[in-house]
Amino acid sequence: MTAAIIDGKGFAAGLRARIAGQVAALAARGVVPGLAVVLVGADPASQVYVRNKGIQTREAGMASFEHLLPADTAEADLLALIARLNADPAVHGILVQLPLPPQMDAARVIGAIDPAKDVDGFHVTNAGRLAVGLPAMVPCTPLGCLMLLKDRLGSLSGLEAVVVGRSNIVGKPMAQLLLAADCTVTVAHSRSRDLAAICRRADILVAAVGRPGMITADMVKPGATVIDVGINRVKTEGRTRLVGDVDFAGVAQVAGAITPVPGGVGPMTIACLLANTLTAACRANGLPPPEGMAV
Ligand code: NAP
Repeated sequence: MTAAIIDGKGFAAGLRARIAGQVAALAARGVVPGLAVVLVGADPASQVYVRNKGIQTREAGMASFEHLLPADTAEADLLALIARLNADPAVHGILVQLPLPPQMDAARVIGAIDPAKDVDGFHVTNAGRLAVGLPAMVPCTPLGCLMLLKDRLGSLSGLEAVVVGRSNIVGKPMAQLLLAADCTVTVAHSRSRDLAAICRRADILVAAVGRPGMITADMVKPGATVIDVGINRVKTEGRTRLVGDVDFAGVAQVAGAITPVPGGVGPMTIACLLANTLTAACRANGLPPPEGMAV
């Protein structure tokens, strides 16, 4: 069997176009969704992320507010900025780019963001709301995975799902979303015994570990849908390339469908950040978020 390739890049482009349409409809009601991105320090990778977020936000017709703070900023000054953004009605979403410099406590900083504007979905209030089935802001990467899965499979009800990885930003919210979609969910991690046997149960296998190629063909049930969240930089023959947590060539011979790296989950993350900003703007104005974009 050769797996179908799940085109995350194409799906994300379509999602951004739908978001732009919804943003235009909101603008006709006098509401312009606004996203504030805060970057502390000059980490080159973070600067690229922040620049790309700003470009895509503006392309969707939203307002983009960028706050670039020096690396030696005191935590109190960042908290004061967050308080101003919380109070600003033109700002519907606030994202503080991680990692933060060592003088700052990331949990305290994230905890200072108004949960209704927490478009990264990292605030404990949003984690709790997701866990108990209340409307929540959901972390962008697992939200993107869920959209790809629903697009591919339709109803996920009753399917066996295995999530490898239990981080707060990917693994745990992914498991909550799959549970809410009526899957039977197993979360595996570094202490799990016989990972291969656990993975082979999966109709849906999500790998979010950060270990290049660790999911091999013998760990995959024939016909399974495999979502590769991993982004790993590996150097071969002097060239750096991006690979996922899944051995793509081998697993594609067994799986029913698979996301590539790059071009799979990655492009969904910023598109879902825009979806979350739109959701926050709708909710702030007493409107329901667009169908299929929010939980
Ligand atoms: P993380 O916080 O480092 O968590 C990794 C998880 O993998 C942990 O729960 C860890 O288990 C588990 N793990 C480690 N070794 C394992 C093993 N041998 N067997 C089973 N589980 C193992 O990473 P993360 O932030 O969730 O990110 C995971 C990957 O996704 C990374 O490659 C990251 O770059 C990528 N990522 C991609 C996007 C995107 O936009 N596509 C977004 C976010 C992250 P323990 O809890 O037991 O330590």
